[in-house]
Amino acid sequence: MKISVIGTGYLGATHAACLAELGHDVLGLDTDPLKVAALAEGELPFFEPGLAELLHRHVASGRLRFTTSYEEVGAWAEVHFLGVGTPQRQGEGSADTTFVEDAVRSLAETITRDALIVGKSTVPVGTAQRLGEILARHQDPSLKIGLAWNPEFLREGFAVQDTLRPDRIVVGVDDAANASTLRAVYSAADELGVPFIITDFETAELVKMAANAFLATKISFINAFSEITEAVGGDIQTLAAGLGLDERIGPKFLRAGLGFGGGCLPKDIRALQARASELGHERSMRFLAEVEGINLRRRERAVFLAASMLGELQGKKVAALGAAFKPDSDDVRDSPALDVAVRLFDAGADVSVYDPKANANASQRFPRLAYADSLSDAVADADLILLLTEWDEFRSLSPDTLAVLTPARKIVDARNVLIADQWTAAGWDFAALGRRHTPVPDYAPVSA
Ligand code: NAD
Repeated sequence: MKISVIGTGYLGATHAACLAELGHDVLGLDTDPLKVAALAEGELPFFEPGLAELLHRHVASGRLRFTTSYEEVGAWAEVHFLGVGTPQRQGEGSADTTFVEDAVRSLAETITRDALIVGKSTVPVGTAQRLGEILARHQDPSLKIGLAWNPEFLREGFAVQDTLRPDRIVVGVDDAANASTLRAVYSAADELGVPFIITDFETAELVKMAANAFLATKISFINAFSEITEAVGGDIQTLAAGLGLDERIGPKFLRAGLGFGGGCLPKDIRALQARASELGHERSMRFLAEVEGINLRRRERAVFLAASMLGELQGKKVAALGAAFKPDSDDVRDSPALDVAVRLFDAGADVSVYDPKANANASQRFPRLAYADSLSDAVADADLILLLTEWDEFRSLSPDTLAVLTPARKIVDARNVLIADQWTAAGWDFAALGRRHTPVPDYAPVSA
């Protein structure tokens, strides 16, 4: 099928390359000419495992092309996916839907053949209905242009596999024929037996918001308990294991730590609260304010641990390992890791940040921090090390290998990926979120 993808950021570029992989002819469109130029050369402007290879292969084969021209996609494609951003409005919790509105208006004004527009962006409930009205106002009335909502559930870091083999496909339609078109687009997933849920616009929009609200809640749930285990001396990881083995609960998203961030969960739970308020149901989603409060307190706790281990932060050298909001991504939007690094800097610490992939994005956002090109550079003269994003490079650290690289013998594991006993046995002052911190009594600084 001839398919366009409007907005080629994290979601759109992934979707476009995966549709080409599934055998479709794909034309990606973005209003950012630099992004389009890079993609057209087969260069991925961000990091996502496996995606660069896919992009390269299908740009080379000619099955995947990029443009900035709405006229071109409007005349060519039979299906148009919308993957433009829905960021948080400045100074408010609500989602800014002007990008999806602009994209639909641009499509309506340039489509010259029967077509289907399919929203994938995460939007407040009621948006698809409104976009349908915009479409009707601006389209050529002689054409049949349908609208469907097909929310995206991919996880950054696993985006390619999640797109090629999703665990479900949800489709909101007001016309059964549009669901059939989408079934044809996703025939490969259909053959794999991926559940295909057909519903109305509102339910489709809400499923995505509900999924993100649930995931955020599960993370904050275990992190709330980690505040209690810190206070009483319990073990949050054993608690999580004991909880997750209950098959009604499950083990995923129960790792206590620095909490959630990124371009989706934080903005989506705020948008959901804002929308519930508009609908007169503010109380239904009020618990999400607490979910966010717990999430932000983890960052404060990480800073508190660093300060208490160092006595004071002013002038102390701190290595921040990780800037991305999660491993296997270079996305630093609302990143807990970067937020902790900035808080330490603002408290007077001399912070050196190292992330295997996200240094460039992080330094663009916070140029005042210092960035190291390698783990060894970051820790070379550190007084304290904080593990803030659980990249494999950091998970595999051992006290002995790290001791060769740094004079520091103090470490905060904000992601609960290191084995505490190994570090304390090797003489390190070790703290982790969710564990009571017992300072090493005979700690003495090691000269480099
Ligand atoms: P992004 O900022 O990486 O990409 C958005 C792109 O849209 C940008 O390249 C921007 O230039 C482009 N754009 C803006 N207005 C446009 C217009 N009028 N026409 C064409 N292009 C336009 O954002 P993202 O992370 O890819 O997220 C996009 C949407 O997908 C959001 O609603 C997000 O919540 C949702 N989503 C994202 C993910 C994810 O993992 N990133 C997962 C599921 C859902």
